[in-house]
Amino acid sequence: MAEAAVHPKFPVPFRFTRVKHARKLPIKIRAKKILERLEHAYPAAQCALRHENPLQLLVSTILSAQCTDERVNQVTQPLFQKYKTAADFAYADPREFEKEIRPTGFFRAKTKSILGATKLLVEKFGGEAPRTMEGLLELPGVARKTANVVLGTAFGIASGVVVDTHVMRLSHRLDLSREDDPKKIERDLIQIVPKSKWIVFSHQLIWHGRLVCQARKPKCPDCPLEDLCYSKDKTV
Ligand code: SF4
Repeated sequence: MAEAAVHPKFPVPFRFTRVKHARKLPIKIRAKKILERLEHAYPAAQCALRHENPLQLLVSTILSAQCTDERVNQVTQPLFQKYKTAADFAYADPREFEKEIRPTGFFRAKTKSILGATKLLVEKFGGEAPRTMEGLLELPGVARKTANVVLGTAFGIASGVVVDTHVMRLSHRLDLSREDDPKKIERDLIQIVPKSKWIVFSHQLIWHGRLVCQARKPKCPDCPLEDLCYSKDKTV
């Protein structure tokens, strides 16, 4: 999967009217403006995990926990040459598999999850990733975030909003949610983002978190959302 076509620098939102009192805007109006700006800044945002099918995306997403997408892509390049089907993963030698995914961290737990999940795929789902939230949540190591990634990106099914570390941070900074639990953040986001935008909104927010609104030092002068943001973390 190709990486997103993004604009890493998108300074003053030239084609939008600057907002003077963002704090006073009703949340749905502010969210609409945020969506328009993100759409303009990241028109082709996609998942950064390289994959060619839902199985590969499922494996990559499990590997991406506490790891960068870049590192995951380095590890999955040879991995996907060797393991092509769910059965290949399910019956892999766990010790050998641990060594192969070690650079992604938490390799023992991830090996257990991937081998366990793919075994269930073979035994219950004909070797294919299921297309439902319920089916995906049955797989070991798969929680709502991973299920949303697979459903949204691999199948185009808008099951919810992916809430990863970037989405959590940006939801707080942009005051789209004041919750700490990812499930509650997702619940807040799906109330203010139209369903047709759930999939792309996650990708756009993730790219914005990576490129501009970074955890330690957000690049607020380059941010297209600057006038819509009143976070205490702002650097301008
Ligand atoms: S904290 Fe800065 S970079 Fe992040 S959304 Fe607000 S203005 Fe943009």
